[in-house]
Amino acid sequence: MSETYDLAIIGGGPAGLTAGIYGARAGLSTIILEKLTPGGQVVTTDVVENYPGFTEPITGYELMEKMLNQASKFGVEIKSADVKSLDINHNDNEIHAVFDDGKTNALSVIIASGAEHRRLDIPGENRFWGSGVSCCATCDGMFYRDKEVVVVGGGDTAIKESIFLTKFASKITIIHRRDRLRATKVLQDEIFKMGDKVNFAWKTVVKEVMGDAHVEAVRLENVDTNEERILECDGVFVFVGFNPNTEFARGVVDTDKKGYIITNDDMATSVPGIYACGDARKKLLRQIITACGEGATAAYSAQMYVEELKGIAYK
Ligand code: NAP
Repeated sequence: MSETYDLAIIGGGPAGLTAGIYGARAGLSTIILEKLTPGGQVVTTDVVENYPGFTEPITGYELMEKMLNQASKFGVEIKSADVKSLDINHNDNEIHAVFDDGKTNALSVIIASGAEHRRLDIPGENRFWGSGVSCCATCDGMFYRDKEVVVVGGGDTAIKESIFLTKFASKITIIHRRDRLRATKVLQDEIFKMGDKVNFAWKTVVKEVMGDAHVEAVRLENVDTNEERILECDGVFVFVGFNPNTEFARGVVDTDKKGYIITNDDMATSVPGIYACGDARKKLLRQIITACGEGATAAYSAQMYVEELKGIAYK
């Protein structure tokens, strides 16, 4: 018979790794199921400046490597698996996280599956995705040394990544559908100080990514006048928010309209024994620090649930 873990965590970003550290330290047999490599979106973040304890900026990769090593040190098992569904067995209180070639059985589950970059869904975007259209300046910025790029979006990610792109690109045009940025003031102050290298196309959307063998231009539309124009560029960076990676949990736990999982303050979902934390959860602030805090809370809640199931008095 296959093993039943006390705790299975779906996703190995900051939320999942922190839940793993807390779960394993509390004595729960703990496994993290991760689709790709542990670390989550943060791995591609150039510099993390707002995670407490690091007076000097640390790269996203380094920070996540530390969290992964810490989780491994406490005995968290990490398995490569793309979870497709959650089955609940009410007879033996088990929850089965099902993936293509098997399943993991656990008494409790923490969903920490994060979110992925939203796309624009415009002609040319998919054709050039990964070779001319990107959602990661840290990964692809160096390909645009002395080239002209456009950045789509006006949030923290768009502005942070634009600042990073100034190291490489000769010109950056930020295309934003409104007349003011959504990004926090500190990032706005920084980008507005960048000088001629950074341009803005306000109240503008991208209608098409154009090119033959490679990206050559974007077709833009002014949202007020519907006037269209062509802007030549060598690459397009899309930072228009995220969609939660929660397909496998839909119909099992309650979500909002966008698919973000609804929890209470203890990170409990609508199903006993299933918790959620990090970017997959409906909440106000999506940061590494909030993901970690929620991961700790989710693991503590899971610990209390499992100990009650096992009949261990909890004080
Ligand atoms: P976001 O805050 O949701 O911003 C998305 C941006 O894309 C908005 O400006 C939005 O325009 C625009 N947008 C959305 N759909 C669009 C479409 N179809 N066409 C054109 N534009 C579109 O997403 P984010 O910037 O990725 O940030 C996500 C979360 O991570 C936020 O909570 C953010 O604070 C956090 N974050 C923090 C940092 C940091 O350094 N502290 C860095 C990165 C991210 P509107 O403004 O008109 O809605």
